[in-house]
Amino acid sequence: MTAPPPPPADAVDDGLTDEEFHNALQAFVGRQIGPAMDAPDEVNVPMIRHWCEAMGDTNPVYLNAEAAAASTHGELVAPPAMLQAWVMAGINGPSRDTDGPYEQLTNLLATRGFTSVVATNCEQTYDRYLRPGDRLSMVTTITDVSAQKDTALGTGHFITTQQDYVDANGQRVGSMVFRIIRFRPRGTTARRPAPATTRDTNWWFEALAAGEVRVQRCSDCGLLRHPPGPMCPACHSLNFDSVPIEGTGSVHSFVVVHHPQVPGFEYPLPVVLVDVDVAGEVVRPVRMVMNTADTEPDAVVVGAPVRIEVRAAGGQHLAFAIVTDTAGGAS
Ligand SMILES: [Zn+2]
Repeated sequence: MTAPPPPPADAVDDGLTDEEFHNALQAFVGRQIGPAMDAPDEVNVPMIRHWCEAMGDTNPVYLNAEAAAASTHGELVAPPAMLQAWVMAGINGPSRDTDGPYEQLTNLLATRGFTSVVATNCEQTYDRYLRPGDRLSMVTTITDVSAQKDTALGTGHFITTQQDYVDANGQRVGSMVFRIIRFRPRGTTARRPAPATTRDTNWWFEALAAGEVRVQRCSDCGLLRHPPGPMCPACHSLNFDSVPIEGTGSVHSFVVVHHPQVPGFEYPLPVVLVDVDVAGEVVRPVRMVMNTADTEPDAVVVGAPVRIEVRAAGGQHLAFAIVTDTAGGAS
């Protein structure tokens, strides 16, 4: 038998032996999580229609009353895969008891550093078709807590729950087995998150990847604009090209982020809005948001001159502002 890896420093010491910990986990098996959850609405045609639209399901037995009447169902039925949707509480719906069995189980696992979670399995079973007017309720039971497992994600425990859905007569109409793993994450260096890109901004990031910071220029009226967008705000032209920046600028404004701290960044994190120098007549200032590099946070002041460089950062290339004259700063 191999010894489990030591818990991370931030884990709480639960004071349990491994066997006691295992037994404490197993004590949750068979327990129901809170009271039955009642569906906020009965099974209804509008929700079926919206769901089918979202899923691209055009089966007429869900959507066309005449076709459904002529089918083996005799009337409209709900797509079986909507089972879970009927009982979802919604964003502002009732929340579970914060000290319920599931929360207690989660807290117990956290004492040994099993704090990360990934869903691994979901299997639904349908006992009968649901029809408009059915009103469901659902109970969730913890059906299994695995022994400690080593996985590619890290070491942890699989937790299986079963949701049983019943109709107004208490007859089961379907069920869902849902499995997650609560695991201790492997030590990894977080990567800087990639910027969100769109078809309108891809060209700008592609230029960055090639080492160039460029500014979008209207092909018709010549207006320079940033961030990139599909239409010139001055003449509404959709035609554009771009010009390179000069490589210098000045701090127009800035914030220094302390919290919340996103993995992949160093804090305190200056985020600067740079007035970017571009050649030729500039009708309106060209401003870009950047992080700083090689710059003490104290050196970032409004008006500070910066050099702009493209640098590799977390598997991508981004523009950084380097304050070149720190006379105005505290450093
Ligand atoms: Zn224009």
